[in-house]
Amino acid sequence: MRIAVLSETEGAETRVAATPEMVKKYKGLGADVAVQAGAGAKAGFPDAEFEAAGAVIAPSREDALRDADIVLKVRRPAEGELAGAKPGALVIAIMDPYGQEPALRSMAEAGVAAFAMELMPRITRAQVMDVLSSQANLAGYRAVIDASAEYGRAMPMMMTAAGTVPAARVFVMGAGVAGLQAIATARRLGAVVTATDVRPAAKEQVESLGGKFVAVEDEEFKQAETAGGYAKEMSAEYREKQAALVAAHIAKQDIVITTALIPGRPAPKLVTKAMVESMKPGSVIVDLAVERGGNCELSKPGKIATHNGVKIVGHLNVPGRLASTASSLYAKNLYAFVETLVDKESKTLSVKWDDELVKATCLTRDGAVVHTAFQPTA
Ligand code: NAD
Repeated sequence: MRIAVLSETEGAETRVAATPEMVKKYKGLGADVAVQAGAGAKAGFPDAEFEAAGAVIAPSREDALRDADIVLKVRRPAEGELAGAKPGALVIAIMDPYGQEPALRSMAEAGVAAFAMELMPRITRAQVMDVLSSQANLAGYRAVIDASAEYGRAMPMMMTAAGTVPAARVFVMGAGVAGLQAIATARRLGAVVTATDVRPAAKEQVESLGGKFVAVEDEEFKQAETAGGYAKEMSAEYREKQAALVAAHIAKQDIVITTALIPGRPAPKLVTKAMVESMKPGSVIVDLAVERGGNCELSKPGKIATHNGVKIVGHLNVPGRLASTASSLYAKNLYAFVETLVDKESKTLSVKWDDELVKATCLTRDGAVVHTAFQPTA
């Protein structure tokens, strides 16, 4: 059994799909591991450390891919990137599959079995494989660090001989994994924190972290969570009521962190131009949903935009701004999944194609796109 760890081809990607620590674990499963030269460089894992852990450093992508049974990546392989892959090889990554049907077909045509880690069901057994959580948690933390770096004032209240500095007011929109970590981080820095979400379950979680919950709590709100624990897209009427409440609240905030997402849909627009204009100059908005279209109307992907003195931070790949930690957690998520695909006695690949984790994540197999959510008719 051979595992290949490829370098990322998307220029801004800093993470790597395996760490030296995980290479040792893969060796323990009976695998040979080939790491493409330089794959971990941007995440602080030099080739020498992979080698010391027992990996072979492959000088090129082709060398790493040759005879690999499992190919590990952070992002979906680009067109042509899998050329030379063994037919039937398992390719595991964050595939970002929505709206990417041509890319899925191309992976099917490459003959590989592609797995999307972000489709892992959120069940107890798969918590250790939950890449959305491991990465969103870091993004929520980093969003507050980025906000405080852009904010020209202190976060905590300070009583000094020269006068009292008020605590920053931080408003977190979307209290899922990223939002809850943002609340916790902002609280640790001494800010006064409020938060909103459309899922009723979020209220108690926000309050347990010391945040105040702000939302229109009507009948629709009480039904707004899917069985899978995600948000539903809300009605126009609800969005209007929520926007009015939020508009009055945002005008008084110093920092707004937005994290609201709906799986498979564009991010809801929650912060309008008028709301930005209601904020004081020097305030900061960090839009963690910028890659899904943004929660703020004025966000610019990959840029820090300024409008009326308000900074709107639209960093891409925020987990990648903590490349080493994000890689370590992602690599552990991947290892936990790979472990389920290997027979520990014979130390060979043994994929149980009817396992719910496999069925939920497998996009392509035997030359076809097999996932029910990505069929031409779906
Ligand atoms: P997500 O990244 O899909 O969305 C982020 C947050 O935005 C969510 O809380 C969502 O409700 C919220 N949101 C969507 N539309 C909104 C709007 N119009 N206004 C305000 N907020 C809006 O969510 P996530 O972080 O992946 O978490 C979703 C849920 O799954 C949470 O309840 C989380 O605790 C749960 N979860 C469960 C497990 C598990 O059981 N293994 C693991 C991770 C997360």
